[in-house]
Amino acid sequence: MTQNLSRRTALFGGALALGVPFLNTRFAIAQQAEAPAVVLPTFYDRMVGDLRVTAVLDGFFDLGRPLITNATAEQIDAGMANAYLAAGDQIRLPISVHLVHGADGITMIDAGSGNAFGPTAGRIAAALATMGISTDQITRIVLTHMHPDHIGGLLSAEGTAVFGAASLHVHETDLKFWTDEAIAASVPDDSKPFFALARGVSSAYGERLVPFVGAADLGGGLSTVEAFGHTPGHSAVRVSDGTDQLLVLGDAAAVAAVQFAHPDAGIAFDADGAQAAATRKAIFDMAAADRIAVAATHLPFPGVGHVEKTDSAYAWVPEHWQVM
Ligand SMILES: [Zn+2]
Repeated sequence: MTQNLSRRTALFGGALALGVPFLNTRFAIAQQAEAPAVVLPTFYDRMVGDLRVTAVLDGFFDLGRPLITNATAEQIDAGMANAYLAAGDQIRLPISVHLVHGADGITMIDAGSGNAFGPTAGRIAAALATMGISTDQITRIVLTHMHPDHIGGLLSAEGTAVFGAASLHVHETDLKFWTDEAIAASVPDDSKPFFALARGVSSAYGERLVPFVGAADLGGGLSTVEAFGHTPGHSAVRVSDGTDQLLVLGDAAAVAAVQFAHPDAGIAFDADGAQAAATRKAIFDMAAADRIAVAATHLPFPGVGHVEKTDSAYAWVPEHWQVM
């Protein structure tokens, strides 16, 4: 019991203790299946050297304020006001994925939410079709981590692989954690679908699933950067060509209105909030010092910009839209 409680706390922070409804999962979404989808295909292209990178909008979800951890109500209020967001109980966050158009095919970084987040998300396959890209043209998928909003898009409603030709790359630590049956058995029932989804991905992709360790050079201008904390094996993905680079942060920064001014603030889904905050600050320091462009799944779409060091913390500087 003690182990269950500590694991539950470590895994899911205060979300459950607060009685906040957990993420919808593909098991709970059937009730919402009739609601209209409201997300139109939306893309943003930019170049990293000679590599074309496309941010694609999978959809959105509303993050309840109680899921923002380690920040005071005043800090959240001020962050929302400074971002000109209407005061309210929720902050609407996009879900993005990133395509890297390489000589050997298209790599996708994360896969969106599929059926896991209801009808306001899960639009990646439709967005690709609108772009004239078939799912079989995705030759490689790199995951920042195995949360449902990043892996749900890998599976059809029937649980089969959506991407029939892609190799799938994820940090070995994340894969082991989310597919560990003993850990899955020890968490509360409403958390088990996280693990079931990861195991479903693992079995659907089979031998195409290729775990990496450390800071891995994946080839084609992509490499990974360990960015642990949000999940045990959470990794950022560096896209580089020549001296130009874009660092895709996954969820190392997720709530722009709060986490730049208050980088110690986390979200309830952080597996280790202190480690996640340390990772966030290290990445922000590096990106600010080296003037590296960054992108992230939940920053305001298209979620590409720079990190500025301020007197007290950091600021998010959205990129001027690159017209091509
Ligand atoms: Zn996420």
